[in-house]
Formats: sequence, C-alpha cells, structure tokens
Amino acid sequence: MKHADSWLIRNASAILTGLRGAAARHAGPDIRITRGRIAALGSLAPMPGEQVLDATDCVVYPGWVNTHHHLFQSLLKGIPAGIDQSLGGWLGAVPYRYRGLFNAEHLRLAARIGLVELARSGCTTLADHHYLYLPGMAFDGAQILFEEAEQLGLRFVLCRGGATQVRQAEGAAAAGPETLGQYLDDVQRLVREYHDPAADAWRRVVMAPTSPPYSMPPEHLRETARVARQLGIRLHSHLSETVEYQHDIHSHHGMSPVAFCAEQGWLGPDVWFAHLVKLSPEEIRLLGATGTGVAHCPQSNGRLGSGIADIVAMEAAGMAVSIGVDGAASNEACDMISETHAAWLLQRAKAGERALPRYQGGDHEGGAHVAQVEDVVRWGTAGGAQVLGLDAVGTLQVGMAADLALYKLDQPRYFGLHDLGIAPVVGGGRPTLRALLVGGRLRVMDDQLPGLDLAQLQHQARQAVLQLQRAAGLRA
Ligand code: ZN
Repeated sequence: MKHADSWLIRNASAILTGLRGAAARHAGPDIRITRGRIAALGSLAPMPGEQVLDATDCVVYPGWVNTHHHLFQSLLKGIPAGIDQSLGGWLGAVPYRYRGLFNAEHLRLAARIGLVELARSGCTTLADHHYLYLPGMAFDGAQILFEEAEQLGLRFVLCRGGATQVRQAEGAAAAGPETLGQYLDDVQRLVREYHDPAADAWRRVVMAPTSPPYSMPPEHLRETARVARQLGIRLHSHLSETVEYQHDIHSHHGMSPVAFCAEQGWLGPDVWFAHLVKLSPEEIRLLGATGTGVAHCPQSNGRLGSGIADIVAMEAAGMAVSIGVDGAASNEACDMISETHAAWLLQRAKAGERALPRYQGGDHEGGAHVAQVEDVVRWGTAGGAQVLGLDAVGTLQVGMAADLALYKLDQPRYFGLHDLGIAPVVGGGRPTLRALLVGGRLRVMDDQLPGLDLAQLQHQARQAVLQLQRAAGLRA
C-alpha cells in the first residue's frame, strides 16, 4: 500500500504515546503525519496541501494492537449451553460444537463483525488465532480473513492454528486432524502468499498449533518450532489458561506447562502465549528469562472463571506483555476499550487480594499502585507490537507508523474529569471514535466506517445465527 496522505491533527486535549515513564505523555497538542508516518509532535502550524483534523476535546492514543482473537467466534456469542461453563465444558459446548457448521459466508460475516467492532474501539492491528481447519474444507479461511482485514484497512497477523491429534474436549464433534506434513505445507504456503517481515507489515503469518500439549505430540511441537525459525516467523498458542493444563501436563509429562514448552523449543522472544493465568513463580522466572510474551485476555478469563493472570509479575520478570480480546464466544464485548478497562481494574484488584493486615506481616493497603493507565496503554499498544515483532508500530513517536485513535469525550461519563488523558481506559465504556488512522489512512470517522451499512450487518448476523442454530439441530 502507498501512503500519500498528509495530516495535521490539531489541538488534542491529551496524547498518550505507549512509551514508558515521562515519555508516556506528549504535550502536543498537534501531530503531523506524512507518507503514513508520524513526522512531528508539538505546536505545529498547518502546511500547504495538508489535511487538518480537528482534535479539540479529543484524546489521542496509539492504535491498539490486539494480540489474541478468534474472529470466527463473532457469530457464537452468548450461546446458552456454554454461558455458565468453565473452559473445558465451554470448548465442547461452543467452539468445537459449532466450528464444523461454518461455511465461507459465515466466516466472512463473523470476521467482518469482529473487525468492525475492533476498529470502532481504536484497534489498528490484530492477530487472529484461526483454528477452523477441518478435513475436506471447501474454503480457504486464511484468504477470507486477509481479504476482510484489507477491506477495513487494518494490519492483520494470521496465527495459523490447527492440530495433528484430536483433543478430548472436542467430544463427539471431533474432526479428523491434519497430518504434520499437511499442517506445515499450509503454513509454508501462507508464508509465501502473505507474510511480510517488514517492521510495519500489513500482513504476517505465525505458526500457531491450537493448544500445546493437546493439539500435537511433543515431537510435532519441536518440529513446528524448528520450521518457524527457519521461515523467520513467530510462534503463538494458548497456554495455562486453567488448572487443567497443569494437571494434564503434570500427569502425562511430569512437569509444568512452561517446562514442557521449554523442552519443545517453545520459549523465546519470538513466542507469545495467550492467557498464562496459572503459573508458578518458577514458570514466570523462566518465561521472563527467555523474553517470552503474553497476550493477556482479562475479560475472557473472567467470563470463563479461569482467574486473573499476574501480568505485573510477568512484566517485572522480563516478559513482553500485551492485551488480547480472545474470541467473542467467551467474551461478548470484543473491543480494546473494554478489554483494557478490565485489565486496569483487575490487576489492581489482584494486588489488593494479596493485601494483609499489618499484624499479619502486610505491607500495603491495596493494589492501586500496580497498574497505571499509562501501563495499560503501553501493554495494549507498544507491548502488542513487541510480541508481534512489528517494530515500527505501537507508539506515537517521530518515524513510527501513523496508527492512531482519536477519542472524542462528548458523553456524560467523561464530563467532570480532571485528567482527560485517562478517560478511554478508566471510563468503562467506549468513547466516540473521532478518527482512526492506520498507516496515515483514515479508516473510521466519527464512528462511521466508509461504505459500511451497520443495519445490514446486523440483519445478516441475525440470519446467520438462525442458520447455525438450525444446523446444530436447535431449531426446525
Ligand atoms: Zn483463545
């Protein structure tokens, strides 16, 4: 893509940069964008030929980088059979029950719904962990996902899921797995067709077997890690979402999940795992020492009752911390505003849970000090870009890709705030998206996506839900 657009964003009320410490905020109030990159921040006068974007009463953040999602699940929200189930029961009742019922149109529609919701929350880059790979499939899901992301103009990282063995949770709906050769051949095809190693790539491919150790035996996992490094692509999967991972790996391999991954070559700065809710201090130390990343999914972990990942401890140990919304089948609010709001609250609550009275040796009253809004913004932007290896994305600095979100604080929940910069994270609702720019291109303006008919999308979604319910035998 070419980036001819030049913009002057004028008079922002606050600018958060995604950087650490004093650099986490920039006084601005203006940002210049030329050829898809941030050219200047400061007090700037318009130049000839420049488009001016009025940011009065707006807060500017880097575009969010969502590092774990399953777009196909956007048509599987709130399914009654799974709404009160923990992970194992939910997997059988929802994604594994329904995934074989999807056709190409369902996947395209689900992807569009998820991408639209993400874009309207200010997300500019996402990694989709796509594991809808079944024998004899009549469509190429990867192609559909890349097409839909390109249509909306978002950066898209396809994490190629899949399995070479059947997981018990799949139950009666188990589909035949791929062979390792089929799996690796398809990853190599996707790399040839889509993967761009550039620091501001629009398309990336990642080796992402659905869930070690359930998806592949150890020797296959080792081979995926070897081939990924040969191809120069990253590794991603689910890990330690619940105590079942600990139990199953302990009983089959006599070790912790993280030690198991270490044995298969599945740790390092080119690896990130979703969840990591259940970790021992030794596992956190090993993950940190190897620079492995995490996609923290607080809403899905809360919805499934899995727990709260200790990402503050993970970051202190040296891990790269990022935020993911996870699939809409286990998180009915798939937007980065509600997700980062949840991360902000829950990390504080988690630290507060550890507080003890002083007579029992306690040394703090509560946990409000552990996660500032600037930390949460950094996790959701720069941290995401780091785990994805998109080094020119994720922060508002001169020379970086012009991926940014302008939030207009025109709703009552923001009236009376003493610090406007924190509003999108602390507010607990989605502010109006005044503008979303990706690579300097305008993708959303005043909550509207050009050419998108939301009423039509709603109608299509309702029809697709009826079709899936019929296919599942729940409706005549
Ligand atoms: Zn997931």
